[in-house]
Amino acid sequence: MNAEPHFLAFETGGTKLVAGIAGRDARLSRMAVVRRMKGDKAAESFRSVLEVAEDLLADEGIRTSQLHAIGFGFGGTVQRSTNRPDLCLHEEGWEDVDVASELKLRFQVPVHVENDCKLAALAEAHFGAGKDARSVFYITLGTGVGGGFVLDGQILALGDLGETEIGHIVVDPDGPECCCGNRGCVEAMCSGPGLSNFCRVLAERHPSEWSRSALAEAGHGAMPVGSERIIRSWEAGDRFAERVVVQALQRLAVALAATINLLVPERVVVGGGLGTSSPKLLSLLGELIKPMVVPYFRQNYSLVGSTLREGAVTQGAAILASQRAGQPLS
Ligand SMILES: [Zn+2]
Repeated sequence: MNAEPHFLAFETGGTKLVAGIAGRDARLSRMAVVRRMKGDKAAESFRSVLEVAEDLLADEGIRTSQLHAIGFGFGGTVQRSTNRPDLCLHEEGWEDVDVASELKLRFQVPVHVENDCKLAALAEAHFGAGKDARSVFYITLGTGVGGGFVLDGQILALGDLGETEIGHIVVDPDGPECCCGNRGCVEAMCSGPGLSNFCRVLAERHPSEWSRSALAEAGHGAMPVGSERIIRSWEAGDRFAERVVVQALQRLAVALAATINLLVPERVVVGGGLGTSSPKLLSLLGELIKPMVVPYFRQNYSLVGSTLREGAVTQGAAILASQRAGQPLS
């Protein structure tokens, strides 16, 4: 039997749910992923990830009495004052699930709920691409676009409903509609679905260039085109794909340069499926950002890709649980 203290960690994201176990050092030792089914409601998803966590504990021979705390990473807005998920744009019903109370009832330990991007930032700052930097800004480009800022190893928590919402900075007031209700947000062009939608918008504006594009040929002109295919066509030299990617990244660069000017992070870590899809994307983003950063800050930061990738949020949830339990990280 394993006698050291343990932490449970959860993640609910755009496409998956994850349960993980960490030991004294807060590093995840086991993780299990449940793919969400289209049409699933929050209560069902929560039940299935809870079952997975119980199986993990049983497999590892860990008793409930050995758990010290639980971290829960939520892919949406979290109300910190009530420790509850508030709004999720990917799956209905989370606002009605009191995950902290249910987990506390089941495992008898404190539960800490936090937004997934903040936890990914925390994980990258401790064990990933932000290690050894005093301040880390993390941005995810995936199903959505979100951000988190870690200073001296702690999440910078400023508002009851969060902060650092880089995905909803308006960078093009005439741009596409965003799921938040505004128009021209970073997320509306630079998330995976946003890039696909931006491709459609630009195809309507530049029909002849679109019709000559490999993207139109491959899909017989059908929309939407997936972000992965847009990136691969851009890498292969397609001119229309280049227009889509460069214009999207120019808008993202405006928001990221402003973020660097405001927060002066030592390290900017780019994660998410789209964000980690291409070294060329990261390199172009870096080139576009630099001229918009205040000259005297330009040498102070570096832009790097996530190293923890898929595991970042769950790892961050374990670190938060450990920090709140007063466990020093090794
Ligand atoms: Zn928005």
